[in-house]
Amino acid sequence: MQYVNSLLDLIGNTPLLRLSRSLATPDGPSFDDAAPGHGPLLLAKVEYLNPGGSVKDRIATRMIEAAEASGALQPGGTIVEPTSGNTGVGLAMVAQAKGYKCIFVCPDKVSEDKRNVLKAYGAEVVVCPTAVAPEHPDSYYNVSDRLASQPGAWKPDQYSNPNNPRSHYETTGPEIWAQTEGRITHFVCGVGTGGTISGIGRYLKEQNPDVQVIGADPAGSVYSGGTGRPYLVEGVGEDFWPETYDRSVADRIIEVSDADSFAFTRRLAREEALLVGGSSGMAAYAAKQLALELAGTPEGEDAVIVVLLPDSGRGYLTKVFNDEWLAQYGFPVEGAQQEAQTVGD
Ligand code: PMP
Repeated sequence: MQYVNSLLDLIGNTPLLRLSRSLATPDGPSFDDAAPGHGPLLLAKVEYLNPGGSVKDRIATRMIEAAEASGALQPGGTIVEPTSGNTGVGLAMVAQAKGYKCIFVCPDKVSEDKRNVLKAYGAEVVVCPTAVAPEHPDSYYNVSDRLASQPGAWKPDQYSNPNNPRSHYETTGPEIWAQTEGRITHFVCGVGTGGTISGIGRYLKEQNPDVQVIGADPAGSVYSGGTGRPYLVEGVGEDFWPETYDRSVADRIIEVSDADSFAFTRRLAREEALLVGGSSGMAAYAAKQLALELAGTPEGEDAVIVVLLPDSGRGYLTKVFNDEWLAQYGFPVEGAQQEAQTVGD
């Protein structure tokens, strides 16, 4: 019989999927028969197939196991992290499997759906008012610091924890190298904490220094030279430089607008049946730009581009996949014209 004893054994070893239809442009090259030697070949690393639904399951496991080993997290201890996103789900899942308590602190603007996912795993969610100053005792920062200083509490802090990039150096990087049989030439991913790009990028460059590492970044974020100006794509881009981002790894950063990120996210669902989040659409859009640049060049023939898609589109049905939401921000709604036509007929 084939089975695993723990859900944690199902983390990682996610597949690579070749993208083709979504790369088509009106007068552009065809990617239908792309293969090494007939490239560029664009492969997506599908991280929503992790049991918690995102790439963050990997860092949650590694950060918790390292804290167990160092004694920072003791049996019966409590994990405290100010997060409501994928890292929270990863931590809640691993904590549940290992018998730790979890408390997440999040601002009141976080949707109830997101809070309920964390609660479903048995975590406690403390909601703080957004409308108070950072120095107020009820602020998001003060509440999480206070909870994290309680006896038995441990705060992973994904923005400074070296086990965040290390998890990718030890698992995701080697998986991509093995899956491409060492033929990867370009690696593309979005940058939030920088853990993914730093860990995978370092591993791949150690295997072959010629592998190009490309970060995809929302216009406005610091990684692409912005000042932290707001953008709508979630999970990527920053207004500060986290410790987990290794500035020496990326060879290039491609800036992507919210409009292009969202339009391509929807294209991936409609043309590749890949229901992924906005940061996946952003990274895949940057990878597509790269594939188009390389197409028809001698370098492009053997190019094998891997792009990492961090999470599923299920968490964004009321945003990226909602026509009214897109229209409210003035983004073009793909497919709307076609639908209007059908109604007119
Ligand atoms: N996409 C999503 C949806 C995320 O939640 C994150 C993590 N913040 C990222 C991309 C970026 O990954 P990293 O933090 O490793 O740079």
